Amino acid sequence: MTRPFALHLPTRDPRAGTGRGLQGITAKNSNTRISASRLAPAGPAAVATRSPSSDNLGLNSERLRAAMIERLRSQGITDERVLGAMQAIARHAFVDEALASRAYDDAALPIGHGQTISQPWVVARMISAVCEQSLPTRILEVGTGCGYQAAVMAQVFSQVYSIERIRALYDMAKDRLRELRLTRVRLSFGDGMLGLPTATPFDAIVVAAAGVQIPQALLNQLAIGGVLIAPEGLGAQRLIRVQRTGPAKWVREELETVRFVPLKSGVQS
Ligand code: SAH
Repeated sequence: MTRPFALHLPTRDPRAGTGRGLQGITAKNSNTRISASRLAPAGPAAVATRSPSSDNLGLNSERLRAAMIERLRSQGITDERVLGAMQAIARHAFVDEALASRAYDDAALPIGHGQTISQPWVVARMISAVCEQSLPTRILEVGTGCGYQAAVMAQVFSQVYSIERIRALYDMAKDRLRELRLTRVRLSFGDGMLGLPTATPFDAIVVAAAGVQIPQALLNQLAIGGVLIAPEGLGAQRLIRVQRTGPAKWVREELETVRFVPLKSGVQS
């Protein structure tokens, strides 16, 4: 799916809301993998590639996405369903116009309210991680943010649910997904730490914000055989993949070191 760059999107200040999250975690450096090169403080140097001006993006976005896909391959992403979905969805449509020229960089970007659109690698890794054994049908995302990951998931899975605790982001994601005619994604406003009891069980759950521990409510809402992926930890975070193997049995595996925005309880209206 391609769309022209000249979108009518709500105006937001990309610098808005650095958030009151964990120390050192900002909307610019969160929702990323931590590799040796990322341990340096985030700053202008974190923008690794030269980007064209946003005026050219409409013409170039397909090509920029193709380059992003090649970079993801070189970073170890191999699932063609995920790569195809990320080629199809215009990431620049989910960020403020002022940041659109950086939409295909290897970075998270601020989306306002102290939150972040996840780094492309994080989106690809999380979706790939729940597809390794079989393709889930019904998937829940906790932390819709701007709706980008939900849009990518809608290309891969037939039933996508996503829940967001910040009202303004929920409204924004809803508008954007409607503009993109991705009405198949079922968005909810609420505290995703409680899961979405009305739509359980889920074959897969993807959590886009880090808590000290993965909430038991989410583990309970997995179908037997279902897979959850979430960042866990406060300072040092790891991506954790959990498979439910029985009514009261879950098998955990630690994956990469990451840095995500905090998973918070309650809602922000
Ligand atoms: N999925 C996004 C990433 C969003 S950042 C993407 O497409 O890039 C993580 C989001 O999780 C933030 O919008 C934050 O508000 C939300 N969040 C944090 N705690 C939450 C909770 N308990 N329930 C629902 N959303 C939550």
